[in-house]
Amino acid sequence: MRIVKVETIKLDRFLFVEITTDNDIVGLGESGAWAFLEATAGAVEVFAEYLIGKDPRLIEHHWQSMYRWAHFRGSAIMGALSAIDIALWDILGQHHNAPIHELLGGKVRNKARAYYHVFGRTKEELYAGVKSAREQGFTAVGHLTPFLDTPREEPFFQSYARKIGDAVETVARYREIAGPDMDLCIEIHRRLTPYEAVQFGRAIEPYHPLFLEDPVTPDNFDEMGDVAAKLGIPIATGERLTTIWEFQMLIARKAVQLVRPDICLVGGISGGRKIAALAEASHIGVVPHNPLSVVSTAACLQIAATSATFVLQELPADTWSDVRDKRPASDDMVEGAPTHDGAGFLSISDAPGLGVKLKHSARERFPYRPRRIDTRLHIDGSVVDQ
Ligand SMILES: [Mg+2]
Repeated sequence: MRIVKVETIKLDRFLFVEITTDNDIVGLGESGAWAFLEATAGAVEVFAEYLIGKDPRLIEHHWQSMYRWAHFRGSAIMGALSAIDIALWDILGQHHNAPIHELLGGKVRNKARAYYHVFGRTKEELYAGVKSAREQGFTAVGHLTPFLDTPREEPFFQSYARKIGDAVETVARYREIAGPDMDLCIEIHRRLTPYEAVQFGRAIEPYHPLFLEDPVTPDNFDEMGDVAAKLGIPIATGERLTTIWEFQMLIARKAVQLVRPDICLVGGISGGRKIAALAEASHIGVVPHNPLSVVSTAACLQIAATSATFVLQELPADTWSDVRDKRPASDDMVEGAPTHDGAGFLSISDAPGLGVKLKHSARERFPYRPRRIDTRLHIDGSVVDQ
């Protein structure tokens, strides 16, 4: 079996890679470098020159060849490598008529607990989102900010007391609405400095969040470790990281209790399973990051199926509450989309390979929508993280 074609497909907000073999197997993958998909597409072109004519079954060998041939790393390149890796696993599964998780040693669970995205531009929308997730049967909600995702054209200013006080009150209200049977995954999105994160984190401990995600900008592992040591709630981080070596350094600093590998960014299923093994060795939970399409969800579910310390799967809402960024429904994009059982769990497909196939109609229905730089400013004109 040989690779005859490597194609990139930009669709809506996503970049897919399809790899075709000489016996007409088509493997599908997705890139997680969502802000730089054009750069990822360029990297895929470079990798394609290497892949054409190769046996797609030698996945780890190709991974090592593509990663190690030059000394450049980073999200755009790793997004390309990840999409290719997922597509190669998809081909291997179809070739053996087996789901990928079977080739990885078999399922350790039959379904994957999911957390649902909650978005809102007002507090009322956020509270309604928590209530709606509960009514849909989800047992965990995430992407749950204690701040507002205020329009980026509005300059930011709040006193320290207002910023921390309001955020703590919001989390208290989330707990009130969620009740004790739904977990809260609180997402800071890098909005706090280390001293703010410690004060805020200590104040929300009574509301038992399942985790506090990226309480500080995740560029400095020592600072993340310092915040983690001072808080009595688990820290989740890792969505920006791209290698097993970065995750190892994070874990060694005890800066994380739940790792958040983006399977479309950490070298695909090959990278994701190694990170899951690193996590398992330190009794750390695995919560695959997934703000992408249902193709990414399907790849994440291979890790969920086979990782002993898997905890939760991020599940993006098909329709974001911001009407400017409506995304296609999963069933309109692919055949074989995982389903929600109405009780907070996603199905794990036993179909050969990845279990999802891109619908041809999706290419015409959902033209590519490139992202534009959209930075929020402080009232004094400086840049703020949001
Ligand atoms: Mg996050």
